[in-house]
Amino acid sequence: MKGKAVAPPVYLTATYKFESSDDLIDVVQNRSGYIYSRWDNPTVREAEKIMAGLEGYDEALGFSSGMAAITTAVMAFQDRNSKIVAMNEVYGGTFQLLYDFLPRLGMNVVGLGCDHLDQLYEEIESGLTMLYLETPTNPLLRVIDIKPLVEAAHRKGAIVLIDSTFASPVNQHPKDFGVDVVIHSATKYLGGHHDITAGFICCDKEHFGAIWEYRKVMGGIMDPWTAFLALRGISTLELRVLRQNENAMKVAQFLDRHPKIKVVNYPGLHSHPDHDVATRQMAGFGGMMSFDVKADFEGTKRFMDHLKLIKLATSLGGVTSLANQPITNTHAALNPEERAKAGISESLVRLSVGIEDVNLLIHDLDQALAMI
Ligand SMILES: *Cc1c(COP(=O)(O)O)cnc(C)c1O
Repeated sequence: MKGKAVAPPVYLTATYKFESSDDLIDVVQNRSGYIYSRWDNPTVREAEKIMAGLEGYDEALGFSSGMAAITTAVMAFQDRNSKIVAMNEVYGGTFQLLYDFLPRLGMNVVGLGCDHLDQLYEEIESGLTMLYLETPTNPLLRVIDIKPLVEAAHRKGAIVLIDSTFASPVNQHPKDFGVDVVIHSATKYLGGHHDITAGFICCDKEHFGAIWEYRKVMGGIMDPWTAFLALRGISTLELRVLRQNENAMKVAQFLDRHPKIKVVNYPGLHSHPDHDVATRQMAGFGGMMSFDVKADFEGTKRFMDHLKLIKLATSLGGVTSLANQPITNTHAALNPEERAKAGISESLVRLSVGIEDVNLLIHDLDQALAMI
């Protein structure tokens, strides 16, 4: 038959049949085809190829969630002599993995805040096997200078991983700074429509095999239907993110001038502590921000409860604008002391700006701020 599908076919199959035993043996030994969908799947492979191209690496691997990608990538490079150096401002699930689960397995993990970069460099200088970074950070949108950290870690022979979820491949290219392994929660910008849970890892050939083996055994591969939706999401990624960059800048400027706002954390504003790094390092400032309203916890809740167009929800990166109070969900497990240390107040609101008409978003924020 002539004519092929324009949209990628969804290979809903768990297993694959062979013409001969020799063919099957060849696939098992040389990974020259498909054998079982926990190993590889043609629809997932299609999404992986696009993803590798987006980040500029040889390879990519699809996962059932961002956390499946992170846990698999981190585990793939550990042995009894490992020492991981990481930032404290990592995603909540990653925090639990690095500072609770891995130490329970006897692994040496050192965490430092991004306001103590000198100590981070000292730890790197004293030797390490893995450097784990995340930028921009959640929820304060700190941006750390990737390149010098990567160079310091590489001089010690360490592998460098980065969670680049908040930036998306449109706004940040970790490959340009020498990062070995880039991780994305595709639940966010890549999927972009709040309808999948997924993750990707991008890396070059030298690191691919180890991660692939761990994925095969740990079982966190993406499913074919999710891969189809991820491909569909990725096909509009640039359009969406450019709009989100634009919308977020206008929203940040509006909030920055508003009398009921104490501070806006958005790397695109000159007042942001990392504005210069972000300007150098990122192609766009992104769709994420947080801000402190001039209210107590109850007043902030009242503001949240009066948002109409902007939905009260956790997660981020999709077409619909979402807001939440970090202390009620993502950072609920922190005690008041830890919160203060992390700079997360009871009046802090995190906003993921969507692709809506920006005037409607500003109007929504304005009318809800009037309720404080
Ligand atoms: C959401 C998120 C994750 C985890 O991704 P899931 O798809 O929810 O497992 C990891 N890192 C960052 C920065 C995230 O925002």
